[in-house]
Amino acid sequence: MSAEAFVTLATSDSYCMGAIVVARSLRRHGTTRSIVVMVTPNVSQRARLGLEGLFDKVIVVDVMDSEDQLRLSMLRRPELGITFTKLHCWTLTQYSKCVFLDADTLVLCNVDELFDRDELSAAPDPGWPDCFNSGVFVFRPCLHTHARLLEHALQHGSFDGGDQGLLNTFFSSWSEADISKHLPFIYNLTTSSTYTYLPAFKQFGHNAKIVHFLGVMKPWSSQGRTESSQSQNMGRFLTLWWNEYRAQKNCQPP
Ligand code: UDP
Ligand code: MN
Repeated sequence: MSAEAFVTLATSDSYCMGAIVVARSLRRHGTTRSIVVMVTPNVSQRARLGLEGLFDKVIVVDVMDSEDQLRLSMLRRPELGITFTKLHCWTLTQYSKCVFLDADTLVLCNVDELFDRDELSAAPDPGWPDCFNSGVFVFRPCLHTHARLLEHALQHGSFDGGDQGLLNTFFSSWSEADISKHLPFIYNLTTSSTYTYLPAFKQFGHNAKIVHFLGVMKPWSSQGRTESSQSQNMGRFLTLWWNEYRAQKNCQPP
């Protein structure tokens, strides 16, 4: 079987806390695929060492090191910095297929069946369901796609300033073309304030496979608290997140 991997990204030490939980929760549920993290050079040595014990591969990416033309173009669009870093996942051509997971996700069971899907598979965004949420997606690393994505970013920017806007205009047929590329919402469960959400959460929430702590408040920015300020629904998942994070910490040498 050709190599397949789960991929996440951390551009700061605090997002490394999230990446730790991503890897740990994937391992807990017995994934057979590789687990890879992309980090930027500003991530501290200490944080990187912590990741090395958990991930199959820690890959340092620095988009500003790439060709001059791109660098110059990027300087005119500084807001796209983190987006460009995330796009780097398409350069991981040592893998034939990957599943990207945001560093603010928590895996609740084995989700290896995601590799049965093809590029670009993702779950609907709760805010605008004709767009996919880019916190969890299946993709095929390919240098040509990567170059086309960068070109698209420089030409059109991103309508939300981040990777989600960009990826949605690039993979623009997602909403209608192929239902098999629509992941069920339980693969990227985010909170929503719509009035239908709470009854649906009560009915289906226990089926969640991947929880995504989307938004400004991240689990690691709520140290010690077991209740989410965003939503009480997420409180149980926040507790699980901290349990996973602390389990990792206990494994580290003092
Ligand atoms: N990210 C990062 N550093 C940052 C912001 C984002 O490493 O300062 C990465 C990380 O993997 C994160 C993803 O980009 O999960 C998307 O950002 P975030 O999850 O904060 O966005 P949201 O899901 O809340 O829209
Ligand atoms: Mn996220």
